[in-house]
Amino acid sequence: MKKYDERETLFSRINLEKGSKDYNEFYSKNKDIKYKDDSIRRISFRNALRKSDQFKDLFFPIISNNKLYIKNLHEMAENYKLKDKVEIPKGFNNNIKEITKYYGATDVGIVKLDGHSYYSHFGGLSESLNIENYGKIISPKFKTGIIFTVKMDLGLMNRAPHYEELLTTEETYLKVAEIGSRLAIYLKSLGYESFSNNSEIYLAPLVPLAYDAGLGEIGMSNHLVTLEHGDNIRLGAVFTNMELDTDKPIDFGLTEFCKKCALCLINCPSHSISHLPRMVNGRQFYKFDDTSCFDLWAKTGTDCGVCIQSCPFTQGIDLEKVKRMKGNPELMKELVKEHLEIHGRRKYTKNDLDIVKIGEKK
Ligand code: SF4
Ligand code: SF4
Repeated sequence: MKKYDERETLFSRINLEKGSKDYNEFYSKNKDIKYKDDSIRRISFRNALRKSDQFKDLFFPIISNNKLYIKNLHEMAENYKLKDKVEIPKGFNNNIKEITKYYGATDVGIVKLDGHSYYSHFGGLSESLNIENYGKIISPKFKTGIIFTVKMDLGLMNRAPHYEELLTTEETYLKVAEIGSRLAIYLKSLGYESFSNNSEIYLAPLVPLAYDAGLGEIGMSNHLVTLEHGDNIRLGAVFTNMELDTDKPIDFGLTEFCKKCALCLINCPSHSISHLPRMVNGRQFYKFDDTSCFDLWAKTGTDCGVCIQSCPFTQGIDLEKVKRMKGNPELMKELVKEHLEIHGRRKYTKNDLDIVKIGEKK
């Protein structure tokens, strides 16, 4: 089993300042990726948005304070004092799931955490929380992970890779932080230590946990693909010491379906997605070029999202047929054909949506 290390993730790597001690230390062990990482080092991709100054002045502020909101939500949960312990009845896992949905989650699953669930070290990505944590060891102190999805807005996502796509990803990260913070505070008010992972601080990578929690399967895009919303979701997780019954991974046949579909791979403008499998700690992922993906972001000024938009599960698929597709390649081909007939190779809205249309009568 490999320990995940947040310092190996793209955002941590390219955040390192060239020539710094941490930079020299990291790349002395990872020489093969230094050149490519240097080409995208410390780039803020949003500045590359190809829109007028007027557009940027008017619409960047829609989301420019999101990190501040997330900081406040994070601090509320972290500063909340633990109350006296309330005993938890059997079957309370079901209540926790409903409460998480009540706070706004789309779907929820519960997993047992062990040392291999966690990152070994922080990658220094919590500047917006005023936390300097690069290289700090993460102690795996929580036993249970409450993992949840929050669906993104499909209309906005279907404008990917344009600005509307960034609006929905940023909005959903904020929703994830709000749900996580409220849930962590709720659990602390029942006397159980809790921590809300949010886009500014993660104790663990969430896709493997979401897979273990049965929220979906891992698709060729390396995203969690859910039955109802495909990969048009963001993930959240609250870790806690409350002991709860856990869920199991699901298998609706996505690995075989992806081989028949490959629409994320075909549509990816930077050719970052591959069909070649990559096993990580017993779960199947796919080889992926993270630097070419980010390079595309740095050209579009958004986090792209074309792979999300391309997925038949994102656009809606016949779930009655999906229930029967495992082990049935002909039915899988039929589902892909149906998707292509309705949506084409990629469902894409050509024109600006009302939220960023300037000077036009609605
Ligand atoms: S976000 Fe865009 S560039 Fe990156 S993998 Fe997806 S489709 Fe490709
Ligand atoms: S677009 Fe197709 S190949 Fe890619 S993750 Fe979705 S189902 Fe799998």
